[in-house]
Amino acid sequence: MEPNKQPRKGLKLSAIISIVVLISVFVTIIINTIVGYQAERISLYNNTIEFNKINATDLSKTTQSLMVSMKKSIKVAAQYFADVPLTDANVLSQLDFFMDTNHYFNSIVVVNAGGTIVSTSPSHLSLIGQKLSSQAAQQALERRTPLISEPYLAITKRLIVLVSHPIFDSKGVYKGFVAGSIYLQQPNIFQNILGNQNKNKNGSYYYVVDSSGRLIYHPDSSRIAEKVDQNPVVQNLINGVSGQQLVTNIKGVRYLAGFAKVDEVGWGIVSQTPESYIHARSNKLIKNMLVFSMPYLIVLLLLSIWLARRLSKPLYQLANAASRLSQGDESLTSIPLQPSWNYETNELAKTIAIAFDRMKQKTDELSQEAMTDPLTGLTNRRTMMAITSLWEEQGISYAFAMLDLDRFKSVNDTYGHQLGDEVLKFLAQVMMEEKRDQDFCCRYGGEEFTILMPDTTEQEAYIVAERIRERMESSISPIGRPVTLSIGISSNAEGSEDTMERLLKKADEALYAAKHAGRNRVVMYHNMEDIMSSK
Ligand code: GH3
Ligand code: MG
Ligand code: MG
Repeated sequence: MEPNKQPRKGLKLSAIISIVVLISVFVTIIINTIVGYQAERISLYNNTIEFNKINATDLSKTTQSLMVSMKKSIKVAAQYFADVPLTDANVLSQLDFFMDTNHYFNSIVVVNAGGTIVSTSPSHLSLIGQKLSSQAAQQALERRTPLISEPYLAITKRLIVLVSHPIFDSKGVYKGFVAGSIYLQQPNIFQNILGNQNKNKNGSYYYVVDSSGRLIYHPDSSRIAEKVDQNPVVQNLINGVSGQQLVTNIKGVRYLAGFAKVDEVGWGIVSQTPESYIHARSNKLIKNMLVFSMPYLIVLLLLSIWLARRLSKPLYQLANAASRLSQGDESLTSIPLQPSWNYETNELAKTIAIAFDRMKQKTDELSQEAMTDPLTGLTNRRTMMAITSLWEEQGISYAFAMLDLDRFKSVNDTYGHQLGDEVLKFLAQVMMEEKRDQDFCCRYGGEEFTILMPDTTEQEAYIVAERIRERMESSISPIGRPVTLSIGISSNAEGSEDTMERLLKKADEALYAAKHAGRNRVVMYHNMEDIMSSK
């Protein structure tokens, strides 16, 4: 039933619309995703680095006040020992009391002006009487001022930070110093304050360096005392700068770092988050975005495909009809006119339908013209031939009447050709009125006419012919008087195998006989001889 046998050129409209929608939806998703990804990355980056900056600053303040408290605490102890003999036995119990009441230090020592340990808490008998030789101790003895040392390896082989305060008696005589030690590689006050396990789920952590870039505190305690002064952030801290930056650490990992100086001691605190966390978070967000929007996108796509099909279906039908039309498909009787949502489609359908109707009308007119005689409106000779050959093919027998006006030349000569034509039209009208329903009247040529009568014997045809002859004989024609005619009749309805050619000849002979017999009469071929002989 597909009349369109040529390969189709171009894509179907529904496919084009669907493809356009598909492409625009995907481009939108990609743009949204890229924009969302970038926005999220920038915001995460800024938030994270800002968070680290605030975190480092907070911790710096905490450490600052911690150091101030430690110094004060040691100062109180030093003042206590001002007028107490350092050899006194209660120095030890007093130190124990200090250790119990503050939890800043891992140990406290009292050292005399000669640098010899007088007492320790917790008590460590083997140390009493030993001379302290560390740089920190030397500094304390020489400067006689409150000090917080750089981390150093003590005689106990521990890495410590020393917080010391000089002892002067009421007369101002220097007696030595009191010092609290923080054991950096053991549980200590920094770990209590900064958090033992500060590693966050997102990989963030912080660490503390001293003024020379040595690690004082790090979640990985094995790294404590390591020098990390090559790290750009640590270099900034050494130079006294606080701030935030993207940094690649000595292991080659990129971090978003916030860092702040602890002014009291010249230390620095760094809070940092690995950059990979930003990637992971952004990727997860994009994945969530895609998963979340997928059902909507699928619905949107299906909807647009459905819409595209609905919009294009009438156009497709129109195109199909137009194509069938151009290939001369006779089975097409009308253009499909389904109302569409689309204005252009409706207009196009209307226009094609109108064009189709006009074309059909024109074709019908043309075929009508091709079949009929323009003067009389009767079937023409060509069509007469077509009818008889069709009947012969179908085995339908028929009678043939040949009509010729009598002395028509003189009608023309007397009244003119134009009135002669009117007489021809008049005869045609009479023929149409007197013939039977199944009969066909034809204008055979000039002033000669025929009648085709299916399933009709010469006798039956004679009756029809006589009616016509009588009407003409008794009617006033356009020239003001009757014009008669002669008719010859033949038929193959009585068993003869005569074809049209033969029947035509027989009717013509019968007509000739009628003329010969005096005109204005009907002659059947089968008794033509009688007429001739009787004449
Ligand atoms: P007959 O009785 O023997 O038939 O005499 P006739 O004068 O009719 O002779 P014939 O049939 O030979 O005459 C043909 C004439 O018909 C010739 C011509 O003047 C006229 N005629 C033929 N065709 C037309 C036509 O289309 N219109 C008109 N007005 N006259 C035509
Ligand atoms: Mg004639
Ligand atoms: Mg004639």
